[in-house]
Amino acid sequence: MTTASCAFCRIIARESPAQIEYEDEAVLAFTDIYPKAAIHILIVPKRHIASVATMGEEDRELIGHCLLAAQRLGQAKGFAERGYKVNLNCGPEGGQVVYHVHFHFLAGGRRA
Ligand code: AMP
Ligand code: ZN
Repeated sequence: MTTASCAFCRIIARESPAQIEYEDEAVLAFTDIYPKAAIHILIVPKRHIASVATMGEEDRELIGHCLLAAQRLGQAKGFAERGYKVNLNCGPEGGQVVYHVHFHFLAGGRRA
């Protein structure tokens, strides 16, 4: 998959719309179009990494950066104390559909 054909790279490039919740030099976070919780935000590295299965040593810091963005979202959305889920799917049997690494930030209870 090239970055031009990647749905999340297109959002990062502002070629596709998204409700952006957080951004810094390395990470973008935006609302999931099919939310599975009251708050469902995807946290993606701006550099295209297809999946956990293909990432390398050079991605170590960037993945940690994504988790610190999750911590910030937890604080910004008022869930630092109540808590939230940060999920990462990998590969077909792991439920990964979009092959640009992303963390799911889920808070406020499951949506039907
Ligand atoms: P996964 O199954 O872990 O690969 O998760 C992919 C997620 O991306 C799903 O929860 C989708 O609802 C979400 N998604 C797919 N396309 C978009 C998009 N253009 N904008 C926002 N969320 C998206
Ligand atoms: Zn991508």
